[in-house]
Amino acid sequence: MKHNTLIFSGSAGSGKGTVLKLARAMEPRLKLSVSMTTRAPRPGEEHGREYYFVTREEFLATIEEDGFLEHTEYCGNFYGTPKKQFFGMIDEGFVPVLEIETDGAAKVMKKLNDYLSVYLTPPDYGTLEARLRGRGTETEASIQKRLAAAKEEIFCSDWYQNVLINYDGCAEEAARAMVELVREGETQSRVLVRDRKAFLEGFQK
Ligand code: 5GP
Repeated sequence: MKHNTLIFSGSAGSGKGTVLKLARAMEPRLKLSVSMTTRAPRPGEEHGREYYFVTREEFLATIEEDGFLEHTEYCGNFYGTPKKQFFGMIDEGFVPVLEIETDGAAKVMKKLNDYLSVYLTPPDYGTLEARLRGRGTETEASIQKRLAAAKEEIFCSDWYQNVLINYDGCAEEAARAMVELVREGETQSRVLVRDRKAFLEGFQK
């Protein structure tokens, strides 16, 4: 393995969850770092699997104990990466996957020396919009808000070592490219964005 940590972020509609699941099935040394959060569990989520769901008091106590590698507030809730679990995974020979938003990712990049960072994105603005609308669960106002936020967030992709595109129906290809990056530090895959500037310009259209 080229790197001992994977920092993985992606905009709304990037298909982050699917790609990560596929990548973990291909490379069992990738292990999800389970974050602590104060947000309420969604249907189907389990304590200790998706997140450790805690109270605000418990979260603040963990900050006091210096128990987080990083933590942040996002959409009114706290999220943090437990330090002990993270270093424990490295000691056991796993590659912890920090599936976190861009502010937290920037903090971790400053703290760690050895990491691979990957930002996952939909191919273009039209696909992002179609994917967000495709969920069919949100109001028009909420869709517009999420679209604007996602468009802005894409520009944070510049902080990451690699930007990968999740084309429609090609999640497996994105997952394979990510695994190659973790194992070999490089990939020849077409999903790797080589001209970042042109990509970002294209996203604004
Ligand atoms: P959700 O509430 O939809 O599960 O997650 C909201 C956002 O928080 C996602 O972008 C997710 O990647 C991010 N996130 C989850 N855990 C952490 C964490 O421990 N630290 C940070 N900084 N972000 C997190």
